[in-house]
Amino acid sequence: MISIKNKKRKPTVVIIGAGMTGMLMLIKLRELGVEDIVVIEKKDKVGGTWRENTYPGVACDIPAHMYTYSFEPNPEWSHRFARGDEIQQYFERVADKYGLYSAIRFNTLVTSSRYQSGKWLVETDSGEHFEADFLISATGILHHPALPEIKGRDAFAGASFHTAEWDHSVDLKGKRIGVIGTGSTACQAIPELVKVGGKVSVFQRTPQWIVNVPDRDYTEQHKARCRKDPGLLHRLRQLYTMSVEQIFSKAVTGHKVQHAFVSLMCKLNLRRSIKDPELRAKLTPDYKVGCKRLIANGTFYEAIQKPNADLVTEGIQHIEASGVRTADGKLHELDVLVYSTGFHPFNFMRPMEMRGKGGLHINDAWASKVQAYRSLFIPDFPNFFLMLGPNTPIGNFSVIAMSEVQCNYVLQCVARWCDEGFDEMNVKAVAMKEFNTYLKRGMSKTVWVGGCNSWYLDKDGDPAMWPYTWKQWVNEMAEPQWGDFVLSRVEADKDVDAAA
Ligand code: NAP
Repeated sequence: MISIKNKKRKPTVVIIGAGMTGMLMLIKLRELGVEDIVVIEKKDKVGGTWRENTYPGVACDIPAHMYTYSFEPNPEWSHRFARGDEIQQYFERVADKYGLYSAIRFNTLVTSSRYQSGKWLVETDSGEHFEADFLISATGILHHPALPEIKGRDAFAGASFHTAEWDHSVDLKGKRIGVIGTGSTACQAIPELVKVGGKVSVFQRTPQWIVNVPDRDYTEQHKARCRKDPGLLHRLRQLYTMSVEQIFSKAVTGHKVQHAFVSLMCKLNLRRSIKDPELRAKLTPDYKVGCKRLIANGTFYEAIQKPNADLVTEGIQHIEASGVRTADGKLHELDVLVYSTGFHPFNFMRPMEMRGKGGLHINDAWASKVQAYRSLFIPDFPNFFLMLGPNTPIGNFSVIAMSEVQCNYVLQCVARWCDEGFDEMNVKAVAMKEFNTYLKRGMSKTVWVGGCNSWYLDKDGDPAMWPYTWKQWVNEMAEPQWGDFVLSRVEADKDVDAAA
């Protein structure tokens, strides 16, 4: 394990966000030997996405033993697919165990960050200022709820909210509930809403492919075995990781056998689960399996066949006071309207005001395309790490594993800075260009360019995903390619190039 504990030069670091990635960075930077770290968190708790998403049915569709920090396995998971509240509790326990709270400023929003002469100057909404050698954005990907541009949205007289901003004060019992969207979130929420609602109208614009990996309860006996034998937890993690990697990740990145297998799983799931041919036809997508993010769910198909569930495939014309009117002129009367309409995945740390070298604004740097070198670096935003940036291999893999790989890369950069050879680490524009050409080359083989619309696609229709295998990503991220960076000394207001 690398360490800077004996180095004279130690950096100051600001981390934005105390979700899974921000916590990871704090733990690992401290283990490296960095002492001066501040984490700025806009809300009052750690946990990020698991703190935000409290909709009924919220769970993680990645197996729980895989969806944990590698250094903090958890024998207590209640199910193969952990529920949202227990994942939140897991992160709170980790924060306690590692003493993270002392470094976190809660209820504080970063409003601007500016790079100047080797330092990041960070400002918050409480008027505080921080200065740091390194700035880390750990704001996650899916945290800006997207509301649909549907006419009359404000006219609705009942309660309405986005799934990521669930209003728990609204009593759903016996109510007429409308849900717009049928993505991963909706497929988890709808089965719960059908249990309590009088009628649930699901407005589907595009059908989705759903794979059913059965859930299972973890018995007390299983948990006791996991507690006693940490090797078992490790083996479970390896097993799930290998299965997801070898089957699901390969299925979407051009491996024909895996794709055929997952396609068959989805098609059989649809055929066996939905008895009514008319309903089945409505639920059958016309694009390749995996083109949109594959949904792993075992409850939606059953729920949508309940007598109080209604799948509406007619397009929405507008929203009005008493409900949703579809293009056929029918009014679907509702008491509650739920927007399960996804997120703005290309915002990242924005709308935070951010300026790099020479005052370059992030919106200008990303004017033609939101891109980064190795997902982490933006030219002229030196000493800045964009965790889970564009083209991180998201999709159906553990985002924790991705952050851990990126974290290891960042630690090496920080450790080298401590050797005092440079103050500023700036990725070369040409390196980013070459990296993105390399990505583009791989995209043509993936299913994401299979003619569907999804949140993976940027405004040019390019998937912001990693088009190769997980293993290849891990190998390529194992250590920095130092020649792709300009490493320079910074003297007062002057940046002086040093040997790379
Ligand atoms: P999403 O996959 O982006 O789905 C949004 C849904 O809203 C789609 O069905 C979309 O229809 C619909 N929609 C958007 N605008 C609309 C409009 N104007 N009119 C009608 N329908 C509209 O969002 P999500 O379900 O929240 O999931 C986002 C991602 O979060 C997932 O892909 C996954 O990566 C992650 N997630 C993970 C888990 C987990 O268990 N690990 C759980 C939930 C979410 P179209 O398909 O036609 O665009």
